[in-house]
Amino acid sequence: MSKVEEILSELGYVAHHPARMVEQWKKETGGKAVGIMPIHCAEEVVHAAGMLPVGMWGGQTSISLAPEYLQSFCCSIMKAVMEFTMSGAYKNLDAIICPETCDTLRVIPLMMRKAIPQTPIIGVVLPDNRKIDAGIKYTAAEYRSIVKQLEQITGNPVKDEDLQNSVEIYNEHHAAMMEFFKVAVDHCDIITPYNRHMVIKSSYFMPKEKHTVLVKALIDELIKLQPSQFKGHKVVVTGIMSEPDELLEMFGKYGYAIVADDLAQGSRQFRTPAPADDDPYIRLGKRLANFEGCSCVYDPEKLRGKLLKQLVDETQADGVVVLMMKFCDPEEYDYPFIKQDLEEAGIPHLYLEIEQQMESSEQVQTRLQAFAELLEERKN
Ligand code: SF4
Repeated sequence: MSKVEEILSELGYVAHHPARMVEQWKKETGGKAVGIMPIHCAEEVVHAAGMLPVGMWGGQTSISLAPEYLQSFCCSIMKAVMEFTMSGAYKNLDAIICPETCDTLRVIPLMMRKAIPQTPIIGVVLPDNRKIDAGIKYTAAEYRSIVKQLEQITGNPVKDEDLQNSVEIYNEHHAAMMEFFKVAVDHCDIITPYNRHMVIKSSYFMPKEKHTVLVKALIDELIKLQPSQFKGHKVVVTGIMSEPDELLEMFGKYGYAIVADDLAQGSRQFRTPAPADDDPYIRLGKRLANFEGCSCVYDPEKLRGKLLKQLVDETQADGVVVLMMKFCDPEEYDYPFIKQDLEEAGIPHLYLEIEQQMESSEQVQTRLQAFAELLEERKN
């Protein structure tokens, strides 16, 4: 097995065994773990408290218990989260943080408090006016409030230096991830859509310091290799996530490479560094202020389509695939603007409705195949 294969295999294992990873970390460190719901909750505050932040992005499971709390028209990620909550899958989490970024996420903390009353559920409200001074201060105050609640759980105070250190560790991790995405473009034969996702997903279940080391080692190994002569279709994907695995395998089957992403679970987490400031909470507030192009933050200028065009230009992609999470209102509201911008720029795109629990994949397969043919025709 080559070094690249070894690292990808390790990251793939982590991505598929979140519960085992949390258990192992707790056993090794004696520390506590905190679940973090999507999106825009600064993990750094959990890291600074000496706890393991664990991404809660649903997963593949059959839904039987969740309908007691959630209607059928809620997104499949939150259905999976409630299913896991009720089935006891989150029993190793010592708290859960839930940013109230969409209508569904607004009610999840209330339902979780009822379903698992023994676990502290920490709600976070992020401001719409995130760019003005008052908005930055408000975000900082919300993060301070999380830290206060975490201090009560651990019994240990969190100093500003601890958070500054965590912000630096995360900035380094995020920069490594962005570098990996760039290097991966030259190695589409190895960094398949599935492998690319494993690198992203594993970051949610292990300490960032350790993940950074693995990602940097992967970059070093990839750089040593000859760039691949990829003959398939290079695309940029946008949306909340690119799961399930079955979908990623379909991308591979029809000759696609993902050369850049604008996914909530992907580069939206990594692309905006926390700027310098003496106050670490303000640093995190400023990062949210500087962030652009997500359906879950207020964006009156609708910059997402322009950002996608920029990604297509930078990576010489053939087109864009919009991975529309079914029943996700924020993403659906953004789509008309993205569509208009891509059409004006002459960039072909595919609108693909997905669910984490895909009952039938035939329609998705047909549409991916047809789009691949269209991209092929445009090349000739
Ligand atoms: S933003 Fe969309 S995908 Fe995420 S929880 Fe809300 S509805 Fe679901």
